[in-house]
Amino acid sequence: MAQKVALVTGGNRGIGFEVCSQLAQRGFTVMLGSRNLEKGQQAAAQLSRENLQVEAVQLDVSSQENVEQAAQTIEQRYQRPDVLVNNAAILYDTWQRAANADLQVVHEALETNLCGAWRMCQAFLPLMRRNHYGRIVNVSSEAGSLAGMGSGEPAYRVSKVGLNALTRMLADEVRGSGILVNAICPGWVATEMGGAGGRPVREGAAGIVWAATLPDNGPNGGFFRDEKPLPW
Ligand code: NAP
Repeated sequence: MAQKVALVTGGNRGIGFEVCSQLAQRGFTVMLGSRNLEKGQQAAAQLSRENLQVEAVQLDVSSQENVEQAAQTIEQRYQRPDVLVNNAAILYDTWQRAANADLQVVHEALETNLCGAWRMCQAFLPLMRRNHYGRIVNVSSEAGSLAGMGSGEPAYRVSKVGLNALTRMLADEVRGSGILVNAICPGWVATEMGGAGGRPVREGAAGIVWAATLPDNGPNGGFFRDEKPLPW
């Protein structure tokens, strides 16, 4: 059987880069999405030096044109994407509160963190449906759990609430098609977004890779961290 093909958004650094590495170590051909092609190529080259099958693709998830181009590239080269990891995100807005949040910042967070993933799913789902197989992993956060919702990071939190809702809706729409859609929280991870003190990227990425490699009878429409369910 041909090697499985995965695309990871925001793959040039942080958790996304580690997900690219772990998937490639499991034998995937990985398309490493990066909004800056040069940074993506540098990141991919680092993994290629370890004899991993990784290729950079220029991909800004806020650009409809970029997203469609990435879907076309993957279709032309590999016929289908087996795995889509919606990892790219911005604006962990610790400096804001809902009562006085800059709505332009909220809009920007929604555009990348929610609509970016949504756009990717719309472009990739038809290819997955045609192949009767797919794993979509929406990298979310417990900060988007309504069950534990409190104040702080309003733009980011609302964007992840939306991403969780998208996960549930898509999971319902694809039921029985061979496609599984899940939301994964990586936990607090030491990256540019997470800051110092979080756990290593290796641990944060592991739960994402688990969801990307679920067997056919695996969960669909769930919210997990470290393979364990989280409350919505
Ligand atoms: P990060 O270090 O800040 O990396 C974010 C990545 O997303 C970068 O590659 C960035 O590219 C990319 N990106 C941003 N906007 C983009 C766009 N419009 N198109 C394409 N790529 C874009 O963040 P991280 O900590 O690795 O986070 C990865 C995921 O885990 C996010 O979804 C985040 O919400 C989630 N998460 C993280 C933590 C944590 O503690 N770190 C906790 C819970 C959830 P550039 O290099 O070009 O900026």
